[in-house]
Amino acid sequence: MPAHDVLIIGAGLAGQRAALAAAQEGASVAIMSKVHPVRSHSVAAAGGINAAINVADDWRSHAYDTVKGSDFLGDQDAIEIMCSEAPHEVMHLEHIGVTFHRNERGELDLRAFGGASMKRTAYVADITGQAILHVLYEQLMKHHETVDRYEEWFTTSLAQDGDGRCCGVVARDVRSGRMETFHAKNVILACGGAGQVYSPTTNALIVTGDGIAQAYRIGAPLMDMEMVQYHPTTLVENGLLITEGARGEGAVLLNSDGERFMEKYAPNKMELASRDVVSRAEQTEILEGRGVGPDGSGIWLDITPVPRKRTLEALREIVNIGKDFAGVDITREPIMIRPGQHYIMGGVKTDVDGRTPIEGLYAAGEVACVSVHGGNRLGANSLLDTLIFGRRAGEHAARRAQGIPMPDVADARLREDVAEIDAILAREKIGSPTRPRRVSEIKQELGATMNQHVAVYRDQAGLQQAREIVARLKEESQHAYVDDRGTVFNQDVLGAIELGYMLDCAEATVLGAIERTESRGAQFRTDYPERNDEQWLKHIDISLNGDGPQVGYSPVTITQWQPEERKY
Ligand SMILES: Cc1cc2nc3c(=O)[nH]c(=O)nc-3n(C[C@H](O)[C@H](O)[C@H](O)COP(=O)(O)OP(=O)(O)OC[C@H]3O[C@@H](n4cnc5c(N)ncnc54)[C@H](O)[C@@H]3O)c2cc1C
Repeated sequence: MPAHDVLIIGAGLAGQRAALAAAQEGASVAIMSKVHPVRSHSVAAAGGINAAINVADDWRSHAYDTVKGSDFLGDQDAIEIMCSEAPHEVMHLEHIGVTFHRNERGELDLRAFGGASMKRTAYVADITGQAILHVLYEQLMKHHETVDRYEEWFTTSLAQDGDGRCCGVVARDVRSGRMETFHAKNVILACGGAGQVYSPTTNALIVTGDGIAQAYRIGAPLMDMEMVQYHPTTLVENGLLITEGARGEGAVLLNSDGERFMEKYAPNKMELASRDVVSRAEQTEILEGRGVGPDGSGIWLDITPVPRKRTLEALREIVNIGKDFAGVDITREPIMIRPGQHYIMGGVKTDVDGRTPIEGLYAAGEVACVSVHGGNRLGANSLLDTLIFGRRAGEHAARRAQGIPMPDVADARLREDVAEIDAILAREKIGSPTRPRRVSEIKQELGATMNQHVAVYRDQAGLQQAREIVARLKEESQHAYVDDRGTVFNQDVLGAIELGYMLDCAEATVLGAIERTESRGAQFRTDYPERNDEQWLKHIDISLNGDGPQVGYSPVTITQWQPEERKY
């Protein structure tokens, strides 16, 4: 039976950074991923990574911008750690081979990004995630003797010992369908976010909230789940992302009157206000009849003010996306975009070393909520979050492993998961009391519901409706049938398991959004349009109690920046 000091679930940036850090501490490490590591969703990250590396910059300025961007819900101790450690981390990436863009003086070039008071985003054209992920994977190869890789293994559950400590996982080999228990002194969840709960989303099909739901199911609290980021520039046709780097380079937003409407909403930062502010402005223009396109549901993003040569060099990926997915040459004409689901600020509650309240269980990256993003994440702060807290979790877990014996995991969890998969495979097409539904049908209804009611603007009636629909879909998912009954690469059965994870995430998100009767960051309640610090300067924590979710609260950590009115 495989046994490791540190077992990391997820091989995106957070997971790979954690694996390297734990290996460097001398631990025996394994990293598991349901897809090949370099197909992890981090590969899609485009615009860059923030760090105060300019001599005129200061990490405190980065930290303040992050606190303000979070609408004062971010925990300032964690933000201080992330921003003060950022320059060293980016320089480390550069030393191990990430080919960051350089300016004509040969220095690392920095581009402007939303909510930042100066240019502090290091980048590799608009393929920054890909560039970093491949270099980290290369580094992992150097540690092949101490880091085992379980590629295309799907974790189905976290295992606990009799005292509730996390002591390993149960997983299925995607290639063969074989199930196995993995022992571990520590498990680090680095499973990414839950974007697929929404439709459309900028997130890949694999981003289904697995780690969030698995932690939640064994009692770990989820924090800030109501905070879901809508990115201001996603393609109207299909939700694909046009990076914020475009606006950083000088692209502008126009309504149907040709007006640069951000002047009304954020006169100082214009298109580079924080994402929640820009998305709300766009949505308001659309709702008030100044949208573009056949049904008026779009906004023009005009990239032509950026010199064509610069666009072709620094934004080449979105040049391709424009051509391939919208039939538009962005170097010559505007492209139609609108706000679209992009990121979740919430996740598994952790401390600054990635520890969850469950002993032996850590989390880092988008799966986690430490909380450095609070109510709204600044663009280019997520890659930073994955690397800083991935590394810290890896180091801490490796050190913890030194003092404890390898736990023994009973086979009960394995038997339960095998039985659950057998039961999914055995479902009949007539299994539902009303009518049989495919997994994909339920998923589509979930995504559309969340995008309608738990989006840029929310209110009690819509949220209540979403809650009822999610509850019904949960019930229906118990009977959803799959077509593929085989063992080899059975993505159908994994899709049914993922649907369960997504529904848990959706339930927590809706519940948090109902609970928070104020407007802050990405949560804008039209029935409670003001921020209410007196009552709501606190995190909402959602835990599983018996069969149902239970709401709790925890304080926001404030170190040096008192809440103030947020203007851009
Ligand atoms: C289009 C796009 C562009 C972006 N651009 C930027 C940017 O420029 N700058 C920035 O800061 N942020 C950006 N972001 C956000 C950022 O990319 C993500 O938040 C970040 O990469 C998440 O990394 P992660 O390591 O936490 O998770 P991921 O990279 O999503 O990795 C998750 C890993 O977990 C594994 N996994 C999941 N479930 C299971 C399971 N059940 N069993 C086994 N393995 C599992 C997956 O296989 C994968 O290896 C962007 C996001 C998108 C969608």
